[in-house]
Amino acid sequence: GGALNIIQGALELRTKTVEDVLTPLSDCFMLSSDVVLDFNTMSDMMQSGYTRIPVYENECSNIVDILFVKDLAFVDPDDCTPLKTITQFYKHPLHCVFNDTKLDAMLEEFKKGKSHLAIVQRVNNEGEGDPFYEVLGIVTLEDVIEEIIKSE
Ligand code: ATP
Ligand code: ATP
Repeated sequence: GGALNIIQGALELRTKTVEDVLTPLSDCFMLSSDVVLDFNTMSDMMQSGYTRIPVYENECSNIVDILFVKDLAFVDPDDCTPLKTITQFYKHPLHCVFNDTKLDAMLEEFKKGKSHLAIVQRVNNEGEGDPFYEVLGIVTLEDVIEEIIKSE
């Protein structure tokens, strides 16, 4: 029944990791830091339906900011405001976690912190060169809750 599924889901938070539930970078709706907030960019954002939008510089894996749709409340598309003006004004903190973070720990962090979205990264030491941080995707409170209440 439903209650048992929820209990089961809650128990699995101790073993599952953010890597199991993240939204891969390739599926993320993001904006380049050098865009201008004109009508097209703003309507793309509204149509994406997402509340939190990662902002990257040069390449998608280099996330430097996060834009909340509510940051746009005072932005007029006719002004063609550079996105940087807005991100530098709000300066929302970026929250990064490692891929092996357990979902129970992630849930606690989401409850403590103000942000309900984190960037997931891992240490990539597979290649010839030095190990580096590789961004895998994003995880939100919703992804963790979904693990608890999902039905089988
Ligand atoms: P809210 O429900 O607070 O308005 P939201 O609907 O934008 O936020 P969430 O509910 O946090 O987003 O997440 C829903 C799903 O969408 C999750 O799987 C999450 O990983 C994914 N998600 C969140 N933001 C983005 C984004 N910018 N691009 C792609 N997927 C996203
Ligand atoms: P988000 O986190 O997606 O930006 P939010 O911060 O506006 O949304 P929630 O996180 O959904 O709101 O809710 C936080 C708390 O604020 C909840 O207790 C909710 O009932 C309450 N709340 C939400 N909207 C309002 C509102 N318009 N007036 C008063 N309380 C509200």
